[in-house]
Amino acid sequence: MKIIHNRGICIGCGSCAAVCPKHWKMGNDGKSTLLSAKDLGGEKYELDVSKIECNQEAADICPVQCIGIEK
Ligand code: SF4
Repeated sequence: MKIIHNRGICIGCGSCAAVCPKHWKMGNDGKSTLLSAKDLGGEKYELDVSKIECNQEAADICPVQCIGIEK
């Protein structure tokens, strides 16, 4: 499974880091960062995971839906 962050449209609300601090952290530029994710270019990041864990809550709570989950 993959977690995908379309960071270009992140508005930096902090919700993902609040509900899923294991995988999400707010960056110095005010946007969130998906920890240990691969940089795909174009402000897109991807993380391979064996379990979705709290990333589901992060995806559900993101107000601009810039967190995707591929199963
Ligand atoms: S919940 Fe969405 S908009 Fe808010 S910081 Fe996280 S990725 Fe960005």
